[in-house]
Amino acid sequence: MTLKIAVMPGDGIGPEITKEAVRVLEALRTDGLKVEFEYAPIGGAAYRETGHPLPESTVALARASDAVLFGAVGDFSLDTLPRHLRPEQAILGIRKALNLFANFRPAMVYPELADASSMRPEIVAGMDILIVRELTGDIYFGTPRGHRICEDGPFKGDREAFDTMRYAETEIRRIAHVAFQAARKRNGKLCSVDKANVLETTQFWRDVVTEVAKEYPDVALSHMYVDNCAMQLLKDPKQFDVIVTGNLFGDILSDEASMLTGSIGMLPSASLNENNFGLYEPIHGSAPDIAGKDLANPLATVLSAGMMLRYTFGMEEYAARIESAVKAVLATGPRTGDIWRDGKVKTGTQGMGDALLAALAAQ
Ligand code: NAD
Repeated sequence: MTLKIAVMPGDGIGPEITKEAVRVLEALRTDGLKVEFEYAPIGGAAYRETGHPLPESTVALARASDAVLFGAVGDFSLDTLPRHLRPEQAILGIRKALNLFANFRPAMVYPELADASSMRPEIVAGMDILIVRELTGDIYFGTPRGHRICEDGPFKGDREAFDTMRYAETEIRRIAHVAFQAARKRNGKLCSVDKANVLETTQFWRDVVTEVAKEYPDVALSHMYVDNCAMQLLKDPKQFDVIVTGNLFGDILSDEASMLTGSIGMLPSASLNENNFGLYEPIHGSAPDIAGKDLANPLATVLSAGMMLRYTFGMEEYAARIESAVKAVLATGPRTGDIWRDGKVKTGTQGMGDALLAALAAQ
């Protein structure tokens, strides 16, 4: 079977980094990987081409494909558009359209990069955390939301804006199952993060996760308040194996965890639906400050392609080959500026791609 990948480069550095990930996947063709690519515009690029950041044809291509490789969206020059036409709405929209409710964000520190973290190497060296973030619910999507005149309380008569935090039992159950199963394949530890001392929604989250835990007696479940978790990630990140949390807390904690690892340019992610169909993307944005300059680190996107082979296609061997090529380049190859240090050859986006292809060929 030939795997059909929809490639959505998006804005800023998106086209440069997805190009290198596609080259890496193409290189595996010589070892039997059957893969083909079809491209669709998304974000600011799609707005400029079609008048909408997420055209119907882009969603249709995703639906007709086996997986999506996504670059990044975001274009500051379009920030004055009405919210529904801004580039970032495309990523929220496509996650919702494809029901990609489970976001996997691994945050691990490569030994070669332990000194690139802003934390002391002894705190982060060996850290290997998987954050499972619920992606299609919570305050990001909850309704009602909007603006109105405040009807009660000390600010009665004032203008106010409001959002709604809500989670249905089924939404919590399905992400809890995904997280317990992931923990089972790793070190068997799951920490569920909430704010159950203050928020009804997250007390309910804690209750449902605790119920689901009865089906996974082999996984050690703990609960932590989000404010404590934010501190513990800095104090002792190695205490964590898998973290599961809602959309809002997961957004913030996964960015925090990513910075422990040294560079945002290193971190991949997967967003999956119930059938393991997935959208794979680096966690960073479109980095307009370095776009088009051959400066972006493509490794997060390349590692996202590796996650695609593992999670959607179950091709562990090819995924492991990509990961070991990345490790080989980090150990002895050239580096982009974000992870460069004395003694290393500095290269650009394409140069990293070339080094990865050489490392793959040498395996
Ligand atoms: P960003 O992640 O794009 O960039 C933050 C910093 O990290 C910048 O200094 C950038 O140069 C650097 N950086 C990011 N990726 C890099 C890489 N691969 N290699 C080297 N350096 C890298 O975040 P931002 O500047 O806050 O946002 C820029 C745009 O991206 C905004 O429009 C934002 O809305 C959008 N955004 C999109 C996504 C997404 O598509 N999923 C995620 C976050 C931000």
